[in-house]
Formats: sequence, C-alpha cells, structure tokens
Amino acid sequence: QNEKISDQEKVENKTPSQPAVFIPVDRSPEIQEARLKLPVLAEEQVIMEAVRENPCVVICGETGSGKTTQVPQFLYEAGYASEIIGITEPRRVAAVSMSHRVAKEMNLVVSYQIRYEGNVTSDTKIKFMTDGVLLKEIQKDFLLQRYSVIIIDEAHERSVYTDILIGLLSRIVPLRNKKGMPMKLLVMSATLRVEDFTDNTKLFRTPPPVIKVDARQFPVTIHFNKRTPMEDYTGEVFHKICKIHRMLPPGEDEDEETSETMRKFKKAKQKKTVSLPRIDLDNYSALPVDEGDEDREAGIGDEEDEGSDLDIGDDPASIEEKADPSIPLYVLPLYSLLAPEQQAKVFRPSPHGTRACVVATNVAETSLTIPGIKYVVDCGRVKKRFYDRVTGVSSFRVTWTSQASANQRAGRAGRTEPGHCYRLYSSAVFGDFSLFSEAEITRRPVEDLVLQMKDLNIDKVVNFPFPTSPSAEALVAAEQLLVSLGALKEPPRTGRVKEMEQARLSCPITPLGRAMASFPVAPRYAKMLALGRQQDCLPYVIAVVAAMTVREIFEDLDRPACSEDESSKLIQRRARLTQMRRLWAGQGASLLLGDLMVMLGAVGACEFAGCTPKFCEENGLRYKAMVEIRRLRGQLTNAVNAVCPEVGVFVNPKMTPPTEHQVVCLRQIVLAGLGDHLARRVQAEDILDPKWKNGYKTPLLDDPVYIHPTSALFKTLPDFIVYQEIMETTKMYMRGVSAIEAEWIPELLPQYCHFGSPLESPSPWLCSSTGTIKCHRSSTFFRVGWQLPAVEM
Ligand code: ADP
Ligand code: MG
Repeated sequence: QNEKISDQEKVENKTPSQPAVFIPVDRSPEIQEARLKLPVLAEEQVIMEAVRENPCVVICGETGSGKTTQVPQFLYEAGYASEIIGITEPRRVAAVSMSHRVAKEMNLVVSYQIRYEGNVTSDTKIKFMTDGVLLKEIQKDFLLQRYSVIIIDEAHERSVYTDILIGLLSRIVPLRNKKGMPMKLLVMSATLRVEDFTDNTKLFRTPPPVIKVDARQFPVTIHFNKRTPMEDYTGEVFHKICKIHRMLPPGEDEDEETSETMRKFKKAKQKKTVSLPRIDLDNYSALPVDEGDEDREAGIGDEEDEGSDLDIGDDPASIEEKADPSIPLYVLPLYSLLAPEQQAKVFRPSPHGTRACVVATNVAETSLTIPGIKYVVDCGRVKKRFYDRVTGVSSFRVTWTSQASANQRAGRAGRTEPGHCYRLYSSAVFGDFSLFSEAEITRRPVEDLVLQMKDLNIDKVVNFPFPTSPSAEALVAAEQLLVSLGALKEPPRTGRVKEMEQARLSCPITPLGRAMASFPVAPRYAKMLALGRQQDCLPYVIAVVAAMTVREIFEDLDRPACSEDESSKLIQRRARLTQMRRLWAGQGASLLLGDLMVMLGAVGACEFAGCTPKFCEENGLRYKAMVEIRRLRGQLTNAVNAVCPEVGVFVNPKMTPPTEHQVVCLRQIVLAGLGDHLARRVQAEDILDPKWKNGYKTPLLDDPVYIHPTSALFKTLPDFIVYQEIMETTKMYMRGVSAIEAEWIPELLPQYCHFGSPLESPSPWLCSSTGTIKCHRSSTFFRVGWQLPAVEM
C-alpha cells in the first residue's frame, strides 16, 4: 500500500536515475487526508517510475481521480522542480482555479498565466497556463529551457492548441534530451480515446507507456426517457429538476447538475412551458446576483406560472404538483465565461438548509469536478460552432453529443455515493450518438495555426505530426489566405505541376508574416494591425480589432419577454439601445465604417465613462466584453510596440473620435484585412428572384447574404462592403459590416482581381465561377497615404 509510505521511505526508495532531492511539502492534516482518498495517489510510484524511465508518459484516469491537482505535486516532491513544472489547460477557468487549489494543498505559491493575466515570478516552481500561452512561449524559445516538465492536461478535449502542443513537444523533448537538458512530457486525459496519441507513429516512434488510474466510482443508475423531446428539451430539463427536487431525497451534499446552457434554460422558462412547483420563490435571493451580464443570464429567479401541463412521459406516477419540499433550492450557474469568484461557489457548501443545483455547460463534464453530486440531468445536447470551409459561413447549432460525453456526464453523479443520471432521450437515440466527439482541429479554419507554425519555421505544415490532421483542403485554404494577406511568400506560378503543387503547400513566411504572427489575433486582424500606423490610425485599429476579437460586445436585443409588462419595457429598451448604436455610428463619413464604427464608438464612450458596469448596463454593452477589450487593447499596443519599437505608440484608453480623413483610412485598412470577405449589392436590374432584394453577392456563395437589421448599414445598403463573418440564423447574415469604395478594390486587392478592359464592366464584378473579382484599374483612386509600413524585424 503505497498510500502508507512515509516521506522517509520515499527518500530511501529512490533509484539513482531519480533527481537527487526529495522536496518535502507542508500540507495541512485535512488536505493530507483528502488526498489519500484520491485514486491517483495509489499510482504515485508507478507514475514516477514511468516518468523516470521514459521521456513521455500518458496518464489516463476518470475525472476527479486527482490527476490535475496531484501529479504536479508528485513531480515537485520528486525533485523535478529544478526548472518550472508547467501544466497546460484548454480553459482559462481551469488554469486559474487549479493553480489556486494546488497552492492551497501545498501551502506554496503556485502561479498561473492566462491570456491577460498571471502571477508568475522568478521563484515560480509550478505554473498552470492555457495551452495558447505555452504555444506563444514556444515561439520565443523553441526548447522551452525554463521548463523541466510539461504536463498537457485534458488532452481528451482535443482542443486545437493542445493537439499542436503535443505535436511540437513530441519533437522538442528528444531535442532537449539530445542536448543534455532532459525534459519530461506528461499527457493526461480522461478515460477517452488515447490511441490517437499512443498509436500514432508520426508522433512517437516508441509508443509512450499509458498508466491507467482506476477511479473509485460509485454505481450510477441510468434512466432513459421513453420519448425524446425534440423542441423544448430545456423545458424538460427544468421540469425534471423540479421533480427530482420534490420527490427524491437529497444526497450527502445535495446537488443536481444539468448539462445545459444558461441561455436555453432561461428561454425555456420565458416561454412559460415549464412550471416551477413549490420551489421557494423568495429564496432566489440565494441566487448570486451580480453586475456582469453573463451572470445574470443564468438566473431563473423570476415569477413562474403555475399549472403547466407538461407531460413527463417516462414516469407513469402522476406528479403531485402541490408537494412542498421544505428545503429551498440553491441554484448556481457554471460556465466558462463566468467570473472566477462566481465559479468558485460550486466548490463551497451550499447555505445551510438548502439543496444545491448546478446548471452547467460542458465545462462540468471533465474540467471541473464538483463535489457531492447525486443526480445528473442530461439533455444530451451540445451547442457547437459549425463552420463551412467552402463558404466560410458560421453557425451555432445544438446537436446531439457523443456517447463518450454522455457517459462522462453520467459519471459526475457517482463521485461520493451511488447516483442517478436522467437522460432526457431514449436509449435508441443514445445508440445513434457518435462514439466520440470530433477533434476541434477538423471543425474550424486553421489559418491562425498555419501562420503560427510557419513562424516556427515549420514550412511544410502538411507533414506536421498532428494527433489528428486537419483536412488537406483546410490547409490549402489557409495557405492561400495567408499568401493573399502577404504573410507568406507567393509560390511560383510556373514550373512543373508537381513542384508547383508542393510549393503551394510550403510557402515560407515573410517579414510581414512574422510581425503578424506576433499579434495574438487572427491573421486578417493582424494584417490590419500591421497597417495601422498610418495616419495615426493605430489606436483606432487596435480598438476595432480588440472589439472584433471578443465574442460579442452588445447585449442580445432579441431576448424574448416574460410578461406583457416586461415586453413593453423591452421594446423601450430596444429602441433606446438602437438609438445609442446609431449615435455611435455617427453620420456621413463615419457611418460608412459601419458596424466597426459602432464598435469604436461604444469602446470610446465606455472608456470615457470609466468602463463601469452601470454604463454598460444602461447602454446595452456586455461589461465583461468591455473589460476584455480594455485588456486586449493594452496587450495589442505592447505587441505592436515590440515589432516597431521606434514608433512607440501610446494608447490612451480615452481616445478622441477619429477624423473624417482617418475614417477613410480605417475603411481601407479594414478592406486590406478582410479582402476575401467582400460582398457586392445586387443591382435592381439584376433582381430576377425576389430573394435577391436587398441581397448581396459574395464570390463563393450562390445564395444572397444580407445585412442584419441591427447593423448600422441596414438602411444605407452600400454597393460594396466587407464583413467580419457570415452567421446563418434565419437567413445568412453578415456581421461587422463596413462600406468600401469600388475603386479601392483593384488597388488594395490586386491579388483577387482579374483585370479586363474598362469597357467590359464599369464597376468591379464578383465572378462566382472563379471566385475572383473582375475589374479595371481606375485613375480616380483616392489614396490616403497608403503603403505598407516597415515591419522588418
Ligand atoms: P482530475 O484532474 O483527475 O479530474 P482533480 O485533480 O481535478 O482530478 O480533482 C481531484 C479532487 O480535488 C476532486 O475530488 C475535486 O473535487 C477536488 N477539488 C478540485 N478543485 C477543488 C477546489 N477548488 N476545492 C475543493 N476541492 C477541489
Ligand atoms: Mg483534471
């Protein structure tokens, strides 16, 4: 029983190849007792032996078995902290909360580093970070000399950066060992498919040992629904929770969890399809109320109707709607964007005399283990962003999850005692789920990754040892976009077909590309930053790029109302917010910058008001987004200054509005970055089918796309525009639209143009067949000091 091995024995058991010192850790007795219950402790010796003898080790164990919190401690105690022990997490939440947890367990400073913040010092021994942060560090120091061990955690999530890190580290580790600076790689994963890592000879020539940690898992009884609600499954979740709360005894540390998104949960309630029987309505004071928009989204605290006749379906026993449990429900939201203090609440006991109910997204699936959950309600859905590689159209879709994920969700119920999982779908539907979720890298555009890799001088990205490779088309598309942005050298246009083909997939990076790679934003936006110095536009370009990078800066105006009273308030609010946006968009010249001008106006106005939650609330801005924009502006300013130190830009958070001249320049800069997102309004005489009315044509789509009604340019309908992205909801809508002038196209986007005779077409024309723009050079081009800045490094 190695659980019983004392520290003294550990020292004596050491083999010569083990690092020389054993570093004692001062843990409190309670912590020590809790640790000993974790299954991973039983494997400490096996793990450390494998680490001693192999450069790479895979550790595989059920969530909650103690991998994340304990393995760094094993390494620390065994003397591996001569340099930093680094642990990567795909989610910021996990990096922050795990560093705090380990610090508490060890009575030691444990650091974290996420995109905008961190507390790393020169004394840091253990460091949690997001996978993106480590990737950036590899760019600065390929050998990662400040680290003695890298642990890639949550590898089963298959996040893009995690996948690339594993690919890179499979090369870095042997290199370090060859140079006499040994380094260890640990890959940790939940008990999901590890063969992608271990049986991939491209990755590891000798497969790394896999250590399985047996979890002490209590049995979980699975209850399938007889029927599967297709529409109002959130209502079903809600009803099920109410039923469990009324009829079933609480657990040791009462908890219920649903894998469901907050928004859906709330919407279900708003549609009045569910009733909230007998949950103490006043007790929602127990619900955390704070200023952040997202936090409020999670609330389910409003008045509820009685007597909905929703049929539960699987349970013949009729529900006694008048049942009255004496314990109030303590409802806690849990999702990635939630502030860390709010998230930490799920780890604390619920207030005395209440029963906790955690409403969680799939962050609770594996990243965070909430203690004491007895019932899990699983709607079986997952909300994912879909991206069509051919058309570039994005959409959020709710789809069925995978069997592996569903089982993972169910497992959350059996951590401390036997539990129950209520699946709100039938066993036949479960049988149709795919076995595993797809790796993210196969589902999204990869131009940012390709640029990062080229910056690491990995020219032939096709040959890179990805655990799962992105498709060849995705790689070609990325390479083409980067060439047209000027980040990669153009491949030769003549030569043997095969050689040209090869060259097209191994274009080396340009100096501009290197500058772009150093900006922590997508390549299209990085291009804008690289051009931003002109006409003193940089502060504005930085603000616009920051605003485009955060998910959504405005509050959702389409929120459905609960009651008539609320409905009229909502209409008033919507009118006011629309008016506000119009004000920010300005008039004349500035209006043509469109939605990007609205973003700029919003950021400017918010900063003048001191970026307070109150200002954001009153003006329909997401406070959290505005805080993130402020940080990102600082970070981007530093990044630009690092590339061109002689410029020494100083970004005052309180910027003055741009001049008309600068707005024109900004529109050109935006065009240079979003050149492949050009759309032309369909002329009245061309409209044969009514669906083309007010529609726009893009080079790649056969169907029209539209300007969204909330856009600043909805009424203006300029002839040529560029858009940030196309989102498919009820129609294909363009988001983030700016107007551009036709005569700029041949000058700023010659790479996309086919030049013809001036007589042929009076105005640029988008050819669907070739995906190019047909036009002629005009002499009236209005050039605002347009030139590439010096970006040589
Ligand atoms: P794994 O990485 O294998 O999923 P962890 O190391 O994250 O497991 O968790 C081990 C245990 O530590 C779990 O039982 C979990 O509930 C507990 N734990 C993790 N973080 C905290 C925290 N902040 N507060 C209290 N307990 C925690
Ligand atoms: Mg973990």
